[in-house]
Amino acid sequence: MSETYDVVIVGSGPAGYTAALYAARANLDVLVFQGFEVGGQLMLTSDVENYPGYRDGVMGPDMMDDFEAQAARFGAKMRHENVERVDFSERPFKLWAEGEEEPTLAKSVVIATGAKARWLGLAGERRLMGRGVSGCATCDGFFFKDKRVAVVGGGDTAMEEALFLTKFAAEVLLIHRRDQFRASKIMLDRARKNPKITFLTDTVIQDVLGEDSVEGIRTKNLKTGEEGEIEVEGFFAAIGHAPATGLFKGQVEMDDGGYILQKEHTMTSVPGVFAAGDVSDKRYRQAVTAAGDGSRAAIDAERWLEEQGEAEGAEDPAAWTTEKERNAASL
Ligand code: NAP
Repeated sequence: MSETYDVVIVGSGPAGYTAALYAARANLDVLVFQGFEVGGQLMLTSDVENYPGYRDGVMGPDMMDDFEAQAARFGAKMRHENVERVDFSERPFKLWAEGEEEPTLAKSVVIATGAKARWLGLAGERRLMGRGVSGCATCDGFFFKDKRVAVVGGGDTAMEEALFLTKFAAEVLLIHRRDQFRASKIMLDRARKNPKITFLTDTVIQDVLGEDSVEGIRTKNLKTGEEGEIEVEGFFAAIGHAPATGLFKGQVEMDDGGYILQKEHTMTSVPGVFAAGDVSDKRYRQAVTAAGDGSRAAIDAERWLEEQGEAEGAEDPAAWTTEKERNAASL
């Protein structure tokens, strides 16, 4: 039987790596299953300018390299595999890495597999991802000052993204496949009243155009059948997010959208299993909030292990820092 880790973290975005950093610094034996998409959604972003501490901004992939290196420096082990099955029905918890018959054993688990923006599935979307194609106006809106951009979707996310983009862009085309909207009336009204937003309804996007950057979109009106090309320099998919929680269905409680419920602080419905970041958050979805949640999950895991008498030699990650500062101050 293989080694039993104190904490196994599934996911390698800001939440997963921060949980790993905190847990490793608390002297816990930590393994991170990074998954095939190491680094998570930030690997699809170019400049990140809203993560505190990077005064001049940072490239998303570089930031995630830093996150990984910092957690590894304190002894967190990294494995690239995806986890394909878990069993949280008894302790130690079991996690099977893809292609392995023997499970990895864990005294506690932090689920930090994140969420994904949903995409239309167009070739141009994939080709120009991070080069004008984005799934997050808060992250990337700033780069579209005085430009014309398109937002696709008819829900609250689309309204919110379009409204946010009006702070920067010269014009925002809101493109929706029907003439009825799922968005709440208040958000829809706000978007309709904004002079910078132009609505194009009954319209689908057939592709995003451009080789190295977004130059336009190809559209089709579903009522008239008319096809056309519209010049835009940015394309925002706002057709919803999906948490990457399929693996944990039936193991921990989730809401109807598949988001994992944090029952007590970051603890899920299974004591000893914690959730951090976008798997539980449909409101903020920021790198910095996910990182904060990762630290909370590691602190909760350590305290829970301590209560179970299973955290031999561990130090409370929060108390440890305070203690260290006190010792330093008294020198
Ligand atoms: P949503 O309400 O499910 O809306 C998704 C929109 O995308 C729909 O208009 C849908 O069109 C469109 N869509 C989906 N697949 C598409 C495709 N393949 N091609 C073209 N269009 C497509 O998702 P959401 O806007 O992300 O909202 C999710 C939840 O979060 C909602 O409960 C919402 O109220 C909440 N939310 C709240 C706020 C806020 O209060 N500030 C902000 C964001 C989200 P159809 O209508 O034709 O299906």
